[in-house]
Amino acid sequence: MTNLGFLQDVKAHIRLPPGLPSSNPTVAAWQEPAHPTISNAQSSTLPEDADIVIIGSGITGCSVAHSILHHPSAAKLRVTMLEARTAVSGATGRNGGHLVSDSDSLFSSLVSSIGLERAVETVRFSEANIRRIKDLVGELNPADQAAVEFRSVNTVTGFGDRESFRDAIRTIDQLVKAVPDGDLTYKVTTKEKGIGHLSERIITAGSL
Ligand SMILES: Cc1cc2nc3c(=O)[nH]c(=O)nc-3n(C[C@H](O)[C@H](O)[C@H](O)COP(=O)(O)OP(=O)(O)OC[C@H]3O[C@@H](n4cnc5c(N)ncnc54)[C@H](O)[C@@H]3O)c2cc1C
Repeated sequence: MTNLGFLQDVKAHIRLPPGLPSSNPTVAAWQEPAHPTISNAQSSTLPEDADIVIIGSGITGCSVAHSILHHPSAAKLRVTMLEARTAVSGATGRNGGHLVSDSDSLFSSLVSSIGLERAVETVRFSEANIRRIKDLVGELNPADQAAVEFRSVNTVTGFGDRESFRDAIRTIDQLVKAVPDGDLTYKVTTKEKGIGHLSERIITAGSL
């Protein structure tokens, strides 16, 4: 297939309606063994009516349910969550577990497409999401906290050519100037200098 044919094929697939979830999905490693209380959790009867119906029990549906159920003026609302398969068994139950903000790699393109102000808002929203998940994990009982295995770590991104490396430095430089009080810290280094302590928000590699 030519590149153009491949792109047209991808474009056509992206536009297809998602349809119903597969009735015979693969089993994710995270779901073996199934969680004893969450996996098959469901009400004994399906409510005949509800004020709010949430379709899907992934992180999107669960965040909506959690926010509604904790909202002071929503105490009397009847909320029903519908799930076609077992709870949290879609993408949420089978992902890589990385709680990351893509702001550093996307910032320049965000500024070009939506403008500086909204790009900064997007970065702040992304970082706030990470803080919120961290807080939610902190609210769990000790056994569930241990099961979540939440850890703060440093990540390393490698570049195989100087052009992409320079682009990445430009993007991070732009991000750090626009969001000087951001949560994430960056260190730029070269293979000659090696990876030192990731303690500074940015060190621009002067020799590049
Ligand atoms: C292999 C993989 C690795 C990933 N790694 C990461 C990562 O490291 N970090 C990261 O941030 N993101 C990662 N992602 C992306 C992330 O997992 C998803 O963006 C996120 O989980 C989507 O959540 P969701 O609630 O929108 O969808 P889902 O978790 O898929 O939930 C949707 C739920 O809705 C149900 N449903 C759908 N239609 C209906 C219907 N008509 N009736 C009833 N129920 C229905 C489905 O059964 C499903 O349970 C990864 C995704 C995958 C697949």
